[in-house]
Amino acid sequence: MKAVVYDRPGRFAVRDLPDPQPGPRDVLLRVLMAGVCGTDLHLHVGEFGPTYPLVPGHEIVGEVVGLGAEVSRLRPGQRVVLDNTTSCGACIECRRARPAFCRHLIAQGVNAPGGFAERIVAAEERCFEVDDLPVETAVFAEPTACVVHGLDVLGLRPVARVLLFGAGPTGLLLTQLLARSGAGSLTVAELVQAKLDLAAARGADHAILVDPSDPGVARSRLREIAPDGFDVVIDATGTLGVLEGAIALTRTGGTVFAYGMTPEAARWQVPSYEVFRREITIKGSFAQQFSFDRALEALRTRRIDTTGIITHRFRLDQYGEALAAVADSTCIKAVITPQQA
Ligand SMILES: [Zn+2]
Ligand SMILES: [Zn+2]
Repeated sequence: MKAVVYDRPGRFAVRDLPDPQPGPRDVLLRVLMAGVCGTDLHLHVGEFGPTYPLVPGHEIVGEVVGLGAEVSRLRPGQRVVLDNTTSCGACIECRRARPAFCRHLIAQGVNAPGGFAERIVAAEERCFEVDDLPVETAVFAEPTACVVHGLDVLGLRPVARVLLFGAGPTGLLLTQLLARSGAGSLTVAELVQAKLDLAAARGADHAILVDPSDPGVARSRLREIAPDGFDVVIDATGTLGVLEGAIALTRTGGTVFAYGMTPEAARWQVPSYEVFRREITIKGSFAQQFSFDRALEALRTRRIDTTGIITHRFRLDQYGEALAAVADSTCIKAVITPQQA
């Protein structure tokens, strides 16, 4: 089979690999679609803990084409999405119900073979049947599970005034769940008008275009919307400048929520006196845990509507172009369809 393979940071090629063999409790999947994520850009430069050789790709929709001897639920021909992570169940984090922080975590597409390949093996118990969802919708299962987990961590209070920076794929998923999970008002700030239009159409009450050459204009609009600050300010961009301006926009007793992924070496200057004096909470959210079922529920009920979010499609042999698209602000979501290769 063909797959994108990295030997080391920054160097990948599409190679022929032997078809993976399912173990007794695994299924073999033909990959129908795999989403390209901002995380894949970090993996490209060696961040986020990759092991080599690496086949990336962690947002995966596949068709069951092979069964291990002990597989009892799934059948060939079924469409599934997969939770790409496996935790040990026994380490100090697993014992405290934090499997995403498992000391022995296996994450397909990060430190185990992922979905930018024609085929992938996955444990049956981590596959979720999605025959009723279009492939283009099902491919959002993993990022939606991350967003559901994010809302678990955030613990939004009813009728909170929320400001969200960033209307990329994650920002647009967050927009919809925030608008439908009790936010009193939702303001989305974003650099690209087309993304902002989607956010406005999916539940944002206020859509603020940020001009990086003159950010003061957006800042005064935000002040008008929330003269006392926002209860919650969310960064879904991973941009230090956004984080550094967040506390000033946060109401006394409010929360700054770091949802975007900055470079590993980035450092954020926090006005510590403000945190103390105004009782500001700073929270982060990482990956997903216990949230796949709810993510699929949100997609099935169209609480999250993914129409229009995929803007770019590529074959396996166009992986370099796919990464370039994800780095470009005009792309919202790029996907790989390996079977066309
Ligand atoms: Zn992702
Ligand atoms: Zn563990």
